[in-house]
Amino acid sequence: MIILKTHSQIQALRDAGRIAAIAREAGGEQCREGVTTAHIDAVIRKTILSHGATPSFLHLYGFPGSACISVNDEVIHGIPGGRVLKNGDIVKIDVGAKFRGYHGDCAATFAVGEVSEEAEKLIRVTRESFFKAIEALEKPNPRTGDVGFAVQSHCEANGFSVVRDYVGHGVGTEVHEDPEVPNYGQPGHGVRITKGMVIAIEPMVNAGTHLVRTLEDDWTVVTKDGKLSSHYENTVALTENGVLILTDPA
Ligand code: MG
Repeated sequence: MIILKTHSQIQALRDAGRIAAIAREAGGEQCREGVTTAHIDAVIRKTILSHGATPSFLHLYGFPGSACISVNDEVIHGIPGGRVLKNGDIVKIDVGAKFRGYHGDCAATFAVGEVSEEAEKLIRVTRESFFKAIEALEKPNPRTGDVGFAVQSHCEANGFSVVRDYVGHGVGTEVHEDPEVPNYGQPGHGVRITKGMVIAIEPMVNAGTHLVRTLEDDWTVVTKDGKLSSHYENTVALTENGVLILTDPA
């Protein structure tokens, strides 16, 4: 069931989104050689708590961290721990914050020191594909297929693939609500996106195959071919005045 949001609910989601975005930045600043992913997680948790919010992902479905931190071939749901970051790593930080009953959900990929040209391009194209999705959302009568097509066509034109097994989603009083928002699709198909809908658009983009598998920890999703993966996400609202990015730190 898709729950449409009122103007004041979107304001509340904006407040939560701002905190999530600030935490994403704080985590990103820690992505340096020699730092553990547990340290990044601790900084993110402190940042969220200092704003009077709580980490959305902590204990969600049993997840043990405050944020998902996934390195290199890890796509999503990486568990923060003792892994020490090295020069050339790429780090995906996925953060949710719950504030006064509403969630914000966002992610980004950060480079540690100097990364390969391919990694740099993958990070850039993934981020660009999110903004292609926003352009699709700003056209009349958008559907999830238009959003997915925008992401997929941009990534594939650049030689990358989009993950099929995990998708974007609605956001509200639950961090995962309807509808599903795939990063692939056909123009004019899928669920109609109407004013009052709040969704997380989150391209997960692989350098090689789109296929993924889950590690024995039952959480960490990695690329099947061991090649790099990148992630970028914001929670957005479709309003009377167009698309509003809710996970904005400003
Ligand atoms: Mg999400």
